[in-house]
Amino acid sequence: MKITKLVVASHNAGKIAEIKALMSPLHIEVCSASDLRLDDVEETGTTFEENARLKADTLSLKCGLPCLADDSGLCVDALNGRPGVYSARYAPERDFKKGMQKLLEEIKSSSSSNRKAHFSCCLALACPNQKTLVFEGRVDGVIAEHPQGKLGFGYDPIFIPDGFDKTFAELGDDVKNKISHRRRAFEKLLLELR
Ligand code: IMP
Repeated sequence: MKITKLVVASHNAGKIAEIKALMSPLHIEVCSASDLRLDDVEETGTTFEENARLKADTLSLKCGLPCLADDSGLCVDALNGRPGVYSARYAPERDFKKGMQKLLEEIKSSSSSNRKAHFSCCLALACPNQKTLVFEGRVDGVIAEHPQGKLGFGYDPIFIPDGFDKTFAELGDDVKNKISHRRRAFEKLLLELR
C-alpha cells in the first residue's frame, strides 16, 4: 500500500511524538487530528481493536485522508486486566500521578502478590474506500513498587519491561521505542506500507 500523507487520530502530544518517530523511516507526511482541528472521537468500544477502528474510520470519513488510530493501555494481571481500554479514564482528572497512585493502592489491596502487567496497542489504518487494516503489539513486564523516572508519559513511571530493572520513564524513548507495544504493532504496519 502506498501512502504519502497520514493523519494520526490523537490529541495526545506524547503519543503523537512517538508515532512520528516510529513512522520516520517511511518519509510519509504525518500530521495529527489537532493540526487539522478535528475533534476527538469518543471511545465507546470495549476492546482496543473496536476503539482503534472507530477512531480511524470516523476520522478518515471526515477528512478524506488515510488515518491511523492507536488504542492502547495497561493491563494488570492482579486486577484481571484492568484498567485496559479504560487506562486513560482510570486516572482521576486524567492526572497520571493520581492514576498511578490509585493503581498501586488497588494492587496493594488486592489479595494477589502478582505484579505482572502488559501494555497493549492496537493500530487501525483506515484509507478512503478501502478495508481498514489492524495491527497489534504488546510488551510484558511488571509494575514497580513506586513511580520512578521522569521520561515518557502516562503509566511509564510504574512499568518495568521484562529484561530490564528500570521503568520506561527511566529508560527513555531510545529504549522504549525499540521494545514497546506500539513499536511492535508499528513493525507490522511498516511491513504493510513499505
Ligand atoms: P488512548 O489509547 O488514547 O485511549 O490512551 C490510552 C492510555 O493508556 C494513555 O492515556 C496512557 O494512560 C496509557 N498508555 C498507553 N500507552 C502508553 C505508554 O506507552 N506509556 C504509558 N502509558 C500508556
